[in-house]
Amino acid sequence: MMPGPYFEGQVKAVCGCYYPDVTRLRDNPNERTQTNFCIAHESYDFLVDKDKEFNGVNETPIPTDKWRESERWRLRLVRLGGHCSVRKDEGACEHAFVLTFDFMTAVTTIRIVLDDASGAHVAITNMTTLPESEMRKGQGSAALRILLGWAHNNDLWDIRAVQVQPQSKLFWEKNGFAPLNNATSDFQYQR
Ligand SMILES: [Zn+2]
Repeated sequence: MMPGPYFEGQVKAVCGCYYPDVTRLRDNPNERTQTNFCIAHESYDFLVDKDKEFNGVNETPIPTDKWRESERWRLRLVRLGGHCSVRKDEGACEHAFVLTFDFMTAVTTIRIVLDDASGAHVAITNMTTLPESEMRKGQGSAALRILLGWAHNNDLWDIRAVQVQPQSKLFWEKNGFAPLNNATSDFQYQR
């Protein structure tokens, strides 16, 4: 059995597994069937409900494992809540996401890489609050607390801020991070 669901209330596919372990391969309008591909059950056809919207989707490639893993992370992140929107950083070679926290007077953006090569569960590669006049008013910390809560709920404990600039050290220390004293000046969350 595949591990899903990937968010609360996610509906199973016909075979009992969840997107993105199952994806649509194609619609067959003549038979009114849809062909799915599942990593546990391979490809299978099923009749589509009469009242269900039938898009007539053409052949869609079977996704790569890497794409599926990113998509699972994205679905988990969607439940982050707290005025946050999530998008994949498509250009990145890893499972990278950009989280945008809109607090009305300012927007905090956090870029994270999940399960990165260094062994961190969550690597925070970049963090900004705009406009600059709203910096140092606690919004960055508020966004970070939401992210840390999400990480703990998902059993992710090794959380690092990578390549911390000297002027940001105090911010990370105030938020419970301590320097790893490594060459890339990474800070690690102390649980
Ligand atoms: Zn399945």
